[in-house]
Amino acid sequence: MSRTLTLALSKGRIFEETLPLLARCGIEPQEHPESSRKLIIGTNREDLRLLIVRASDVPTYVEYGGADLGVAGRDVLLEYGGAGLYDPLDLGIARCRLMVAGPCGARVDLPRPRVATKFVELTRQYFAAQGRQAEIIKLYGSMELAPLVGMADLIVDLVDTGNTLRANGLEPLETITQISSRLVVNKAALKREHRRIGALIDDLAAAAAAGRAA
Ligand code: AMP
Repeated sequence: MSRTLTLALSKGRIFEETLPLLARCGIEPQEHPESSRKLIIGTNREDLRLLIVRASDVPTYVEYGGADLGVAGRDVLLEYGGAGLYDPLDLGIARCRLMVAGPCGARVDLPRPRVATKFVELTRQYFAAQGRQAEIIKLYGSMELAPLVGMADLIVDLVDTGNTLRANGLEPLETITQISSRLVVNKAALKREHRRIGALIDDLAAAAAAGRAA
């Protein structure tokens, strides 16, 4: 029997929005990660299993061969900066924007704003590209809190509907870049399993195109 291929996914929006794409490829997980504590989930295809990992760990698992393929947000991939990954396909799912946000009505032209974010590298690049100085404060989540408690002037975070910002008295100020989730592939696995992985990439590309047209 051929070696099992492993696809790394994160729980939540990426898993939910990848499911219909997998279904269009005839792939059904045997369990759902929200109801199962298993981190490795089989599928109806004997040669394919799913690995449930943190969103920010997907590129690491794929680059170091813990998974052959993975689905990760463009935000995570840009922050990771992995030249070691083959990145063949925009799946067009989990769309949002990476934005600068701040308290409603606050000054945006501070000379050296304190910016709270988990996207330290992307934020550094964004401010540097504009020749603006910023003090970047690394957080791991709930960035919206930082301006509310006076710890930061601005935040950089993902924004979809804007509801989270509004609920915390913040407003979107600048769009850094558009985000969607992409398929990434381990380069050595692609060489070794060119036929099977190539076929899966083609199937997912067709599924993503059908999803966009729907
Ligand atoms: P919203 O309230 O709809 O603007 O969503 C913003 C919240 O959801 C923030 O906490 C974001 O970090 C998170 N979020 C929005 N879109 C995504 C996405 N595509 N991937 C991961 N997190 C997201």
